[in-house]
Amino acid sequence: MKLSQYFLPILKETPSEAQIASHRLMLRAGMVCQSSAGIYSWLPIGLRVLKKIEAIVREEMDKAGCHEMLMPTLQSSELWEESGRFEAYGKEMLRLKDRHDRDLLYSPTNEELVTDIFRRYVTSYKDSSVCLYQIQWKFRDEIRPRFGVMRGREFLMKDAYTFDLTREEAVQSYQSMFNAYLRTFLRMGVTAIPVKADPGAIGGDYSQEFQILAKTGESKVFYDQKLLEITTEGREVNIDELKNLYAAADEMHDPDTCPVDATTLSEARGIEVGHIFYFGDKYSKALNAKVMGPDGKPVYPEMGSYGIGISRLVGGIIEASHDDKGIVWPESVAPYKVGIINLKIENQTAKNMADDCYEKLQTAGVEVLYDDRKASAGSKFASMDLIGLPWQLIVGPRGAEQGMVELKNRATGEKQDVSREVALNKLLS
Ligand code: ATP
Ligand code: MG
Repeated sequence: MKLSQYFLPILKETPSEAQIASHRLMLRAGMVCQSSAGIYSWLPIGLRVLKKIEAIVREEMDKAGCHEMLMPTLQSSELWEESGRFEAYGKEMLRLKDRHDRDLLYSPTNEELVTDIFRRYVTSYKDSSVCLYQIQWKFRDEIRPRFGVMRGREFLMKDAYTFDLTREEAVQSYQSMFNAYLRTFLRMGVTAIPVKADPGAIGGDYSQEFQILAKTGESKVFYDQKLLEITTEGREVNIDELKNLYAAADEMHDPDTCPVDATTLSEARGIEVGHIFYFGDKYSKALNAKVMGPDGKPVYPEMGSYGIGISRLVGGIIEASHDDKGIVWPESVAPYKVGIINLKIENQTAKNMADDCYEKLQTAGVEVLYDDRKASAGSKFASMDLIGLPWQLIVGPRGAEQGMVELKNRATGEKQDVSREVALNKLLS
């Protein structure tokens, strides 16, 4: 993409409404534009990141054997009356009426609807093990939307639902989702530690939140240092192995019963980017979604639900990965891999060299943003650092005469003067 032809509204001033770095940087880097409180438009470069995160989540869900589907955002109140949540959900649920005066709602989550789909089609235990998921917008009328996309009212969530015949199988599903979550966050280049969350009526250890550690996180979390290593090792983890390591999100932490040794207990702030939950037959029972068991008796399937805040992750990753100059994107979610800066577009040699690098990278399928605008070198450097692409390829008239470019790594700040060929080879590998 050539910057001269792109829609990338970079802000010079720091927007006054933004209290935290990720919100500030997302506005300044032209990623989102607020349309009303907690509701955002995603501008082209922001949407690219959202899609990358979505793609990683989708791949890992598919690998875990889940099936993608899509449920509507607007739903009739009827199923929610059945589960009792139409009243219980409270003011966070956006309710509306259609022209026939029927109650509708903008779904904040989908246990009811997915259970209804299940009960319509599945009647036998033979088909009762299934995981369905979607990536869809949700609405929650948060009392205090803030921190940009991190606590929005409209937000993009991946929500998955598992159905199993027995508790053992349901725990197995939970375990497999847990590992899919570890892989998902690892691929995004962030450390999201699992902590114990409120398991509600079911009890046990089968409700966990994944928290990105960051100073500006809204939750307080307690954990064993070792948990950080395990989370980043990239191997299959048995959740029982973690029992004495993960402590808890704030409200679950009790110093008297905390399993973590006081000498290794850490306290930090976290951003909740995922939440997994086993809740037994709560909804299958409420909606009478029973299947015929192997012995001919009806069984209410055991369910779990599994959320990932896709749009919140965009802010969460920035919160965990930025410096005073701007965003530092992990390569897997960066909007482009390489930014080319042509320092002097009037100079023909530099222009030829930069154009050529752009063509070669484009042809090879490398995602590249080319700053071909007529602007000062200083402002080009500042914009590229702000946007935070992993690599910068800098072309100036003097180097170009010798066939040389400068290759800069955004994360380390390391710069190398190399020939065009060496630079291209490195970016193509
Ligand atoms: P929170 O405690 O932050 O309000 P929650 O526990 O109500 O979140 P869940 O019902 O667990 O949220 O939803 C699954 C995921 O959706 C959360 O882990 C979070 O990443 C994301 N999420 C929830 N609420 C919002 C929101 N208002 N804006 C953006 N993402 C959200
Ligand atoms: Mg939660």
